[in-house]
Amino acid sequence: MTSSPDRASSPRKSVLVVGAGISGLACARALLATGVSVRVVDRGRRPGGRMSGRTLHGRIVDLGASYFTVPEGSGFAAVVTGWEKKGLARPWTESFAVLGRDPIEDPEARRADRTAGTLRYAAPHGLRSLVIDLAEGVEVETGRTVEHVDDDGSVDGEFYDAVVLAMPEPQAARLLGASSPSRAQLRPDAWDPVVAVALGYPRVLWPADLHGAFVHGSSVLTFLADDGDRRGDGAAVIVAHTSAGFARDHLERPESAVDPVTAEVGAVLGLDPGIRPDWTHAHRWTSARTSAPHPQPFALSGTVGVCGDAWGGRSSVATAWQSGDALGQALALRR
Ligand SMILES: Cc1cc2nc3c(=O)[nH]c(=O)nc-3n(C[C@H](O)[C@H](O)[C@H](O)COP(=O)(O)OP(=O)(O)OC[C@H]3O[C@@H](n4cnc5c(N)ncnc54)[C@H](O)[C@@H]3O)c2cc1C
Repeated sequence: MTSSPDRASSPRKSVLVVGAGISGLACARALLATGVSVRVVDRGRRPGGRMSGRTLHGRIVDLGASYFTVPEGSGFAAVVTGWEKKGLARPWTESFAVLGRDPIEDPEARRADRTAGTLRYAAPHGLRSLVIDLAEGVEVETGRTVEHVDDDGSVDGEFYDAVVLAMPEPQAARLLGASSPSRAQLRPDAWDPVVAVALGYPRVLWPADLHGAFVHGSSVLTFLADDGDRRGDGAAVIVAHTSAGFARDHLERPESAVDPVTAEVGAVLGLDPGIRPDWTHAHRWTSARTSAPHPQPFALSGTVGVCGDAWGGRSSVATAWQSGDALGQALALRR
């Protein structure tokens, strides 16, 4: 006779981290460093989450995060130094262009419109390679979708001492029951979508010092990245990120974003209207970023912890790493 598992009879598996993005792996590494056994699961085919890209026309194109910044003196800075030594990360640029709906033709005016200051880092092999590096030596099971997490530490019927949800809040909220105290701390409605469109042109048609560009005054675009410049191979590939409002209208069929995005990229870069990309690819991020981050670095209620880029500062790769690391350290101290 079989019976449903209960907490007393089920073998304990220590900590389960759901989500193999950078926050989940930072959390797992912090736990492993103190000898706590931990397993990471992810529904995707590979670790990476929103630092993922895709091989398009023979090279990897970053479709999620465009770059990352490094808070000085942080634990993350030490990790980035390690990546630089391995050739996985490199300083990209301190300045981006600022483009508007009217193309900027005068180079001096364009220079004056640049934003400068913060050093942005990129990854020659794509940002996912950094998450893969963090996964080294960590037990990671990919292709596993978690359906339900209870506040007593049960995950789809298996019990853990602690469960970490390392993912955007809308995804975490779906796993928790409506009356869960862990769910009550989340702000799933504050998340915005983005459609990322990669455009491969016949040759580089924009200035070498563009690097990336914030786009102002456009209802379609918010940011453009010169993917060949950030990856260092000089490929004529632009990755365009759309505004949340535009993305909402194209979430069901992201490929419907391609034509309006192509036209808008051409307009803001001042390309000849006859010039079309050789190829395009659209990717939808339903929960790209939060507009209402929490000041605290993570949430921990009973056996369920939540971490990620919504916790501890502006939504970013660095925030996500710091959140996961802080939650891992807090869980390790409990034992
Ligand atoms: C378009 C875009 C542009 C961005 N630009 C920048 C930028 O330029 N600079 C910057 O610093 N940051 C940027 N970001 C933000 C950055 O990508 C994130 O802050 C960071 O990657 C978040 O990592 P995370 O581990 O918290 O979450 P994620 O990377 O989202 O990882 C969550 C993981 O959980 C998994 N998962 C979810 N639900 C389940 C489930 N039920 N079962 C199993 N697994 C599950 C997912 O598959 C995913 O792998 C951008 C993000 C997007 C989308």
